[in-house]
Amino acid sequence: MHTTASDGRSTPSELAAHLASRGVTIAAVTDHDTTAGIAETRAAASAYGIRVITGIEITAVADEEDVHMLGYGFDPDDPKLAAFLETQRGDRRRRLDVMRSRLEDLGRPVNIDAELAARGAGGKALGRPMLAHALVRAGHVATVAEAFEKYLGHGRPAFVPREGASPADVVAIVHGARGLVSLAHPGKLRRDALIEPLADAGLDAIEVFHPDHDAGKTNAYSARARRLNLLVTGGSDYHGPDAGRVDAVGRVTLPARDFEALNVWLPA
Ligand code: AMP
Ligand code: ZN
Repeated sequence: MHTTASDGRSTPSELAAHLASRGVTIAAVTDHDTTAGIAETRAAASAYGIRVITGIEITAVADEEDVHMLGYGFDPDDPKLAAFLETQRGDRRRRLDVMRSRLEDLGRPVNIDAELAARGAGGKALGRPMLAHALVRAGHVATVAEAFEKYLGHGRPAFVPREGASPADVVAIVHGARGLVSLAHPGKLRRDALIEPLADAGLDAIEVFHPDHDAGKTNAYSARARRLNLLVTGGSDYHGPDAGRVDAVGRVTLPARDFEALNVWLPA
């Protein structure tokens, strides 16, 4: 699940209260490229007796496309991991700056200074949605969707490809911090050819259970995990109220048997 430390709408304490209201007993915070939301969520959740597992969703890049990779149970204070995440967030900021000047060249100037000041500090991750909202605010487009269609989406005039670590690099970095790595929502990614080479590179798991996976995909990725001897992860990918998937919390979960297999490798 995501918090306001990245693109989630819920603060750590709001998330903890929502978990409790949905009867969740074990959860992981997996913000994009930051661990900033974990400690606060864990503290707030402990009041409800909820265990919060250390997690992250790291954006790797393969052939100019984002590949989301989940890390679990790693040491958040690992210096190499922390330095890597800082580089990731720096790359995001530089990319937004380039995209902002592209928009200016297109006669669509936007101001995101307030967001950069508020979200750039404290390890918070930045992304294209900030530019989309700024385009709406400035009256250049009516909706966020239009902002992506006209300017920010892949191949549109203000789009700048991301640079970043390869999926195999991410596996190595999270392993260096004694964590597990799972390929996030492969059914959304649609790059199944990545899975086997990544398994050879040490990938530990694939995310089988996800709100965007229908029964067919869930079964197919479950079978693939078994075939490749990979662990299985899953969850709601919750981003807060008003962000869809509200009822997914406590509904799209990891079955107990899969969790127990994973839990063997997680710190208590
Ligand atoms: P970034 O990480 O900066 O590349 O931004 C990616 C994020 O932009 C995604 O996680 C989505 O939340 C959002 N996004 C991407 N495409 C669209 C779209 N067509 N409409 C609305 N939001 C989008
Ligand atoms: Zn993701």
